[in-house]
Amino acid sequence: MADCIFCKIVNGEIPAVKVYEDERVLAFMDINPLNDGHTLVIPKKHAETIFEIDPEDLAAAIKVAQKVANAIKKALNPDGLTIIQLNKKAAGQVVPHLHIHLVPRWENDGLKVSRWEPVPGDMEKIKEIGEKIKAAV
Ligand code: 5GP
Ligand code: ZN
Repeated sequence: MADCIFCKIVNGEIPAVKVYEDERVLAFMDINPLNDGHTLVIPKKHAETIFEIDPEDLAAAIKVAQKVANAIKKALNPDGLTIIQLNKKAAGQVVPHLHIHLVPRWENDGLKVSRWEPVPGDMEKIKEIGEKIKAAV
């Protein structure tokens, strides 16, 4: 897509520190890393979110995410890894080309991206919403 930053990276119109590439998928370093080793995995074919992406491209991207996660583990020996994938502005997505964030984690690294306080929900409401989703699958 003409105005998409990540399509421009795929096409080589703007530079990126690439770590893996195949026919369908590209992985490159995030230029605003949350931690050392923060890497993005994208399908080469433009798709904005999980709602539109070709399932084959999504499957290819998640397989590459695992491959690169293992490479990060080998190269940087983190204590953990957070995977983030945001869809639409309401979820915080900034670049409208689907991407999977791989964020290496170290004990006490202070990042505020992984945990929330569990607050028990209303079981009746949870069941009702679950039924709606089940019927829509
Ligand atoms: P989002 O908030 O959409 O999930 O994340 C977009 C990510 O893309 C951000 O982490 C941001 O740092 C990264 N990013 C934005 N522009 C560029 C760029 O031109 N090159 C690279 N390598 N990363 C970018
Ligand atoms: Zn794009």
